[in-house]
Amino acid sequence: MNFETWLQSRLTSHGFAPGPIDGVIGSNTIAAIKAFERAHGLPVDGTADGAVVDGLRAPSSSALPLDMTRIPNRDIEDDDPQPVGKIWPRQRDVRSFYGDVGQHQTKIEIPFDMVLAWDTTRRITCMTLHSKVAASAERVLNRLASIYSARERISLGLNLFGGSLNVRRMRGGSKYSMHSWGIAIDFDPARNRLSWHKPQARLSANDAIPFWEAWEAEGWLSLGRARNFDWMHVQAARL
Ligand SMILES: [Zn+2]
Repeated sequence: MNFETWLQSRLTSHGFAPGPIDGVIGSNTIAAIKAFERAHGLPVDGTADGAVVDGLRAPSSSALPLDMTRIPNRDIEDDDPQPVGKIWPRQRDVRSFYGDVGQHQTKIEIPFDMVLAWDTTRRITCMTLHSKVAASAERVLNRLASIYSARERISLGLNLFGGSLNVRRMRGGSKYSMHSWGIAIDFDPARNRLSWHKPQARLSANDAIPFWEAWEAEGWLSLGRARNFDWMHVQAARL
């Protein structure tokens, strides 16, 4: 499911049907966004900005029996099982929190165009992540789809997937990389080399601040922001 069809399906489930869910943001969808904004006291501009996306992501189940919101194993694209501001474990506690390396993995769909960083002819539509972080990452990616245009994402390199799950040791060490649990994601490794600092690393630039804030709002950690290296990398574990 891409962002457009997600938007249309969420509008529909909130009672603001934009017509057929066809992934095309036309006048019917814009009218539905405006009606949603009006009903929620938001600025009525027909733009699927962060406030609209957050509102649509909220459960639309007021018409359902309360227990319907508690059905286990529901689609992670739907309503969100974790509070915003989630605190992830420290790196030294990841095994007790997440289990063994490479276990409990799931796939999320990426709501904007991505390609493999080292083979840009390969489109990447899904990424593999630990089931405990998948919904959180999906929220961030949806947010990125709404706060940056496609051109801005390309400029920042957010379209260049550098890997998520990868069971391996840390470079130059014996400990497992955070990627081994599927709790880290790399973007645009060529322009954010491991040892590069600000301002050489592309994702250390000011136009990447909303990108990092979107992850940090979900409790994810940037080694670039925390330690000024490995600016390609974000992880659901604290130092
Ligand atoms: Zn990484």
